Amino acid sequence: MKMLIQDQLVEAEGGDTIRVANPATGEVVDSVPKGGREDAKRAIDAASEAYKVWSERPSIERSRVLLKIAEIIRASVGELATSLTLEQGKPLGEASSEINSFANTCEYYAGLIGRQRGAHTPFSTGEGFFIVTKRPLGVVGAILPWNFPVSLMGWKVAPGLAAGNTFVVKPASTTPITDIKVASLMAKAGLPPGAVNVVTGPGSVVGEELLENPKVAKIAFTGETATGSRIMEGSAKLIKRLTLELGGSVPMIVCDDADLELAVEGAAWGRFRNCGQSCTSVKRLFLFDSIADEFIRSFTKKVKTIRVGNGLDKSTHMGPIHTEEQLEKVESMVEDAESRGARDIVKGGRPSDKELQRGNFYVPTVLGDVDYDAKIAREECFGPALPIFLVKDLEEAIERANDTPYGLGSSVWTKDVERAYHAAERIQAGTTWVNSPPIARAEVPFGGFKQSGFGRELGIEGLDHYYETKSIQVLEYGKGKKWAFPIN
Ligand code: NAD
Repeated sequence: MKMLIQDQLVEAEGGDTIRVANPATGEVVDSVPKGGREDAKRAIDAASEAYKVWSERPSIERSRVLLKIAEIIRASVGELATSLTLEQGKPLGEASSEINSFANTCEYYAGLIGRQRGAHTPFSTGEGFFIVTKRPLGVVGAILPWNFPVSLMGWKVAPGLAAGNTFVVKPASTTPITDIKVASLMAKAGLPPGAVNVVTGPGSVVGEELLENPKVAKIAFTGETATGSRIMEGSAKLIKRLTLELGGSVPMIVCDDADLELAVEGAAWGRFRNCGQSCTSVKRLFLFDSIADEFIRSFTKKVKTIRVGNGLDKSTHMGPIHTEEQLEKVESMVEDAESRGARDIVKGGRPSDKELQRGNFYVPTVLGDVDYDAKIAREECFGPALPIFLVKDLEEAIERANDTPYGLGSSVWTKDVERAYHAAERIQAGTTWVNSPPIARAEVPFGGFKQSGFGRELGIEGLDHYYETKSIQVLEYGKGKKWAFPIN
């Protein structure tokens, strides 16, 4: 597979390639160009030229192109989902819903653009008025992680294109293929050539060029908090606009009046979807003492039914962890918790099945009596292992939930709306779901408090991050005379 620069599929100038492996089998899926700084520069120049055309298109045309993109992507869901499963590992059903969510985000912003209104406001001193307008930023560098390569590209390109910007996308080196396919399809929807480019290659080279190149106005980044910190540093010199969507250690609080059946389903969905590799995956489960035994009994039964396997197999519920390195991290976090006295509620770990040993599989694991200082409680566990903590009441749960440097998502499960609202107002996180697993929706702003990042994606707020705000002040004829110089 080649990368996409100015609507052409091209090799890297240096001629090197990166192999992309299937996490379920270890087999090579394909290779992509190992792009360098020169390739990134070419893509940035192409996006810069495309910007001159795209930013001048009326919003109704931008809206139509986004709708066309959605239509083309939806028509290719099957092929794109298979491609995503092969390189990322997630089950086909999850891959299809990720591709559909990309189309959905395009449709949402196609509907929003052109429908916003502003206001004409007279000056308080009466000589005229001002209006506030929005201007696109220019070329945006979208730097993506491997866990949701397609939907997270959509969170950036859909609002960004709607607002009139153009893009150089830098996918994660382990999941570049489906992003290139999606961008190639987008190029057929009526965008000017070079409006969306995809440059594959190391973050330390291609990514750094995006940070340093003066033609890139904004970096839209999703990834680890430590990388986010480097992105801030690298963008500081040229004062680039930034949105940072970083890691999370999402708490789920189950109160004593919760619908336990629903909460058990929510915890399983929340922790094991995408093999636990979501920024908003449930990473710490807090149960009120009084319902803990009943919840754990039923949750254990549920977790033991999860079928681990190759994502291409229709009977698979949960695919592999994306890389061997991530698998080792999850394994070491579980071992660390066990060494501090944690009890295996569901003992998972590496499977004994020979076929599965070819891939990075890890059977769901649930731990009880976990030390609050264990790594699994303090750091982001990006895989299918869940620590459970018991709490006496909501105040203790909130205090524990907030005891983390992260602040991305959270959920509270209760039938009492006052309790839910009390918790939601006090949990330091960008989103609190009430009686729901963590589901992102195109119309709802998404982002983090604390070290989970800043700026918002999705919703009207997401669109705002692809604009500069400009004020235009107008004096009425004859009322400007008092501004004569020198000032008396
Ligand atoms: P990562 O930080 O390792 O990599 C993300 C991207 O940054 C990759 O494309 C990588 O090549 C690039 N990169 C690395 N170094 C760079 C540099 N110096 N300059 C520019 N680019 C550079 O993240 P990952 O492991 O791919 O993704 C998993 C992480 O993403 C988890 O922490 C997860 O919580 C987070 N995440 C957050 C959200 C959110 O919306 N908040 C969503 C999904 C994932």
